[in-house]
Amino acid sequence: MAFSQTTIDAMKTITAADAVLTEATDLAAYSYDGTSNWQSLPQAVVFPRSTQQVAELMAMANAADIPVTIRGAGTNLSGGSIPVRGGIVLCMTRMDRIVEIDEANFTATVEVGVVLNHLNQELARRRLFFPPDPQSFLAATIGGCVAENSGGPYALKYGVFKHYLLGMQVVLPAGKVLSLGGRTMKNVTGYDLPQLLCGSEGTLAVITRATLRLLPMPATRKTALAVFDQVPAAGSAVHAILASGLVPAKIEIMDNWVIQRIEEMAPLGLPKDAGAILLFEADGNAAAVEEDVQGIIEICKQSGAAEVRSAKDGREADNFWGARRAGFSAVFGNAATVMAEDVTVPTASMAELIGRIQSISRQRDVPVVMIGHAGDGNLHPCILTDEKDSAHFERAEQVAADIFDAALELGGVISGEHGIGLEKRRFLKKAVRPEVIDLMKSIKQVFDPKGLLNPGKIWEADK
Ligand SMILES: Cc1cc2nc3c(=O)[nH]c(=O)nc-3n(C[C@H](O)[C@H](O)[C@H](O)COP(=O)(O)OP(=O)(O)OC[C@H]3O[C@@H](n4cnc5c(N)ncnc54)[C@H](O)[C@@H]3O)c2cc1C
Repeated sequence: MAFSQTTIDAMKTITAADAVLTEATDLAAYSYDGTSNWQSLPQAVVFPRSTQQVAELMAMANAADIPVTIRGAGTNLSGGSIPVRGGIVLCMTRMDRIVEIDEANFTATVEVGVVLNHLNQELARRRLFFPPDPQSFLAATIGGCVAENSGGPYALKYGVFKHYLLGMQVVLPAGKVLSLGGRTMKNVTGYDLPQLLCGSEGTLAVITRATLRLLPMPATRKTALAVFDQVPAAGSAVHAILASGLVPAKIEIMDNWVIQRIEEMAPLGLPKDAGAILLFEADGNAAAVEEDVQGIIEICKQSGAAEVRSAKDGREADNFWGARRAGFSAVFGNAATVMAEDVTVPTASMAELIGRIQSISRQRDVPVVMIGHAGDGNLHPCILTDEKDSAHFERAEQVAADIFDAALELGGVISGEHGIGLEKRRFLKKAVRPEVIDLMKSIKQVFDPKGLLNPGKIWEADK
């Protein structure tokens, strides 16, 4: 049911006439996200410009029992920003100011609508570095990344968003504004609430500002590429490199299907006949980087790589990493429905996980292609199916369940960085004990007693 004119006018009074969308044609763009099988229309989309506006909007929605779903760029891969119960989509993209870059103390304070790439460009001018690098960084917002605790290739050496989160400003569902954490490197002052909100998938509070830790830019970076005949052999090489004590900044994996699709979409020089490739980056001072790359090349050869070489110049390195970034687009552009899974296992079990996924795919006769952050055990097996072909789709769902079982048996988790959202909520019970889900629900109850913030996510509704 559409909102009354009084509700629409109230939202415009709090924000601005051009900050509220209610036409069906406008709403459609906010009814989906990075997943290919979820869609639901909100009744309105509102673009706040300040924490004060967020607080007033939340108080208004809470008093009127209107569900609110927070949205950044909508690139998440778990259905997290889909407004499944309608109501308001609170789109944070106009809160896009970099408030402060404190070079002396290595921190940045930003509004949450800042796009990660924009922050990275500002930091690069100052020779500063913010490592978490979800491969959607050209569009993803800081708020979405904090709410998903996003990671990326650099997670292997540098960790994920939570490792760089010092403080935040938030608005609770009923409209109260709080400052949490601080700006110091260390802080043990009661419960660590920023860490609780990091990865909470927009279900506990609206984050409006974040203070992030920065690092100095590494002096040198070098890229290497290793070609393998088989995907599991590439997985074994990753383990051998890590077991040797080397810590590359990145180790990424792609299988032959993904390589072929990327090269069809944009030829970037990947070896098209490789069964799988590993892409490495080493960073630090020049001598150490050189030594690390030589070590990586040596271990890959011992692990059966058909070819290993370092990128001949910066341009070739950029092409390789551009190809890696194009990975998901290449996959999504080649199947009607893609389930981009996100399992993560202890790194020593990577090769075993890859082998099991390949046999699951064969047994169920459903294609599964592979790309991922091999160095930290985070694999994205992408299940290719078509929602309109019900028999195939059912088998694909079974493949997803089998993959989760395999990851859990190997001591892993069902999501390393994409979150549970809608996509994996029916699998949560496989991964987390009922008493832990109950504890999570009681935390939700404290923050959001009316259950109006991003409803329907993480766990299924109680029957
Ligand atoms: C091509 C591609 C590559 C990707 N690569 C990676 C990758 O390498 N690593 C990775 O981790 N992810 C990756 N992702 C997933 C996605 O980009 C990340 O989850 C990203 O952090 C989402 O940011 P967003 O601004 O798009 O957030 P949205 O998709 O808009 O929202 C994500 C979640 O955060 C909540 N949220 C958004 N803003 C706020 C806020 N201000 N306060 C509270 N909650 C909020 C939403 O309600 C939702 O639940 C990729 C996605 C694509 C399409």
